[in-house]
Amino acid sequence: MLINQSMNTATLNITASASVLAPSADLSSLTVVKVGGAEGIDLDAFCADAANVILAGTPLVIVHGGSHQTNVLSDALGHPPRFITSPSGHTSRRTDRRTLEIFQMACRGVLNQQIVERLQRHGVNAVGLSGMDGRTWEGQRKSAVRAVVNGRTVVIRDDFTGTVESVNTGLLRTLLNSELTPVLSPPAISAAPDHEPINVDADRAAAMTAVALGSDHLLLLSNVPGLLRAFPDESSLIPLVSRAELASAAAIAQGRMKKKILGAEEALAGGVARITIADARVSTPVSLALAGRGTVID
Ligand code: ADP
Repeated sequence: MLINQSMNTATLNITASASVLAPSADLSSLTVVKVGGAEGIDLDAFCADAANVILAGTPLVIVHGGSHQTNVLSDALGHPPRFITSPSGHTSRRTDRRTLEIFQMACRGVLNQQIVERLQRHGVNAVGLSGMDGRTWEGQRKSAVRAVVNGRTVVIRDDFTGTVESVNTGLLRTLLNSELTPVLSPPAISAAPDHEPINVDADRAAAMTAVALGSDHLLLLSNVPGLLRAFPDESSLIPLVSRAELASAAAIAQGRMKKKILGAEEALAGGVARITIADARVSTPVSLALAGRGTVID
């Protein structure tokens, strides 16, 4: 009996002191930042600036993809990247099981840990996660993917691609409340009964994450200054896009920029006040984007 009482007291003390040591962080300025992995992006500069922003009081959730690293690793491992084009003209990575493994190596193994290492070096306690961890990103694996091959439409059934349908914020909030910075990358996890990793678009996943966390601002940083009216002419930057102009912005965007505009549209519809598409190649990319450099969509 005595032993039980003293154990209860000890448990109570631990709980009380833990809550004193880890008060809830102020998440009112929480910002989701998606950084591209393309060539030309200086991860050192990105992480140094992100650390300054975090240490100055703006909590960040950092999201990244790994397309470029996946291409490099795929070639190195003798399983060259392949891309398929849907009947509507959309191009995506052919993700068979081996490609999925390489994609995981590139995203979670290489790029994620490079970002965590740099943030740690700059005094930010970062935690690397994939969307599978804590079932943070849940989605549906496509049961069949249609592709045009030599002019004919074929159906592919062993592709591991899909879309994030829900974001479970529990793990992210636990980390943020403990003043830890989540660094989150694909894959997502598919729903029951399969629970498989799925290759998802990181821009749209970042948009859904911003919505789910109630974040006011989403930054999409890439290897262009923002949305360009006449890509690749960088002097044709469109500084401001209103909600009403989003449809015409989507028409200007080509290729992968279309996903960013779609993500921006989904984020706005979900209550995010402002989305900034901006340059990740400058020396202080996060600060400049927060200050309104790039294409601001609101
Ligand atoms: P990241 O890997 O950084 O997320 P993406 O390659 O997914 O970047 O998307 C950015 C790319 O979108 C640019 O590098 C550019 O090639 C392409 N793009 C197409 N149309 C436009 C446009 N109108 N303005 C800017 N970029 C565009």
